Amino acid sequence: MLVVMNANATEAEIAGVVHVIESLGLRAHTMPGATRTAIGITGNKGAISLQHFENLPGVAEAIRVSKPYKLITLDLKQDRTIVDIGGARIGNGSLAMIAGPCAIETHQQAFAIAEIVKKSGAKFFRGGAFKKIVSEALDEPGVDLVEKYADMIQIGARNMQNYTLLRRVGRSKLPVLLKRGMAATLEEWLLAAEYIMSEGNYQVVLCERGVRTFAQHTRNTLDLAAVPAVRRISHLPIIIDASHGTGKNYMVTPLARAGVAVGADGLMIEVHCKPEEALSDGAQALTLDEFEQMANEVRSIHDVIN
Ligand code: MN
Repeated sequence: MLVVMNANATEAEIAGVVHVIESLGLRAHTMPGATRTAIGITGNKGAISLQHFENLPGVAEAIRVSKPYKLITLDLKQDRTIVDIGGARIGNGSLAMIAGPCAIETHQQAFAIAEIVKKSGAKFFRGGAFKKIVSEALDEPGVDLVEKYADMIQIGARNMQNYTLLRRVGRSKLPVLLKRGMAATLEEWLLAAEYIMSEGNYQVVLCERGVRTFAQHTRNTLDLAAVPAVRRISHLPIIIDASHGTGKNYMVTPLARAGVAVGADGLMIEVHCKPEEALSDGAQALTLDEFEQMANEVRSIHDVIN
């Protein structure tokens, strides 16, 4: 259920609603917006009676939610979520670039790549050692480690439905990059985001990285339609991983261009100084020169559509 407050509801009225929700043994998720505050309710096993809320001071309406998710929806929060990663933002209208090698191999390799991707405008380094670092946590102890050293926790495609891990990152202070599972429907993916948010961490970025289909000309089939589909339902930012989404170097730049053109909030790109010597995913890595060229092109596309 969602409780939508009047535009002029006071803090005390909002606190009153939260109190009623908590006294029913449920969890309240207060989402302030530019025009009104809405409060999502989670933790209920069955339906909650509307009458608990409809007549409380400051309440505009109580809405029953038929979908399995509510915290991710535009019904709860009409303003787009901006995810803050130590001051750098995703979802604020600028194009976020997360770039770096598939895996950190040596100190020298990491820093050589970091310098170039930073020069080309990337604010986020993937791999996991400059500025804002995005690194994957594979299990719960992994989250402790990533929390210590990185700025954003990545949940990989294979872990998208690892609910204990989702709950654990839901209790983290760090923002979460949630990759879509390789066979996950849009609803399953959004439900995974809902799990994280239901623990109180609302800083979630969705990442489309391709799904498994019958097609064999690519590593995965990059589902670009996921961008407008997510936009229609959710306030969460969404980025495109054109590297895992294609698996092939020559396809990365064209699909990165397309990702920006369909309105993604950012791109995730694998970059390597010597792709032929990379320990993993060399086939889909861009060289430093290719990355610089791609970054310039997608910036122009982003400028045109905004
Ligand atoms: Mn990789």
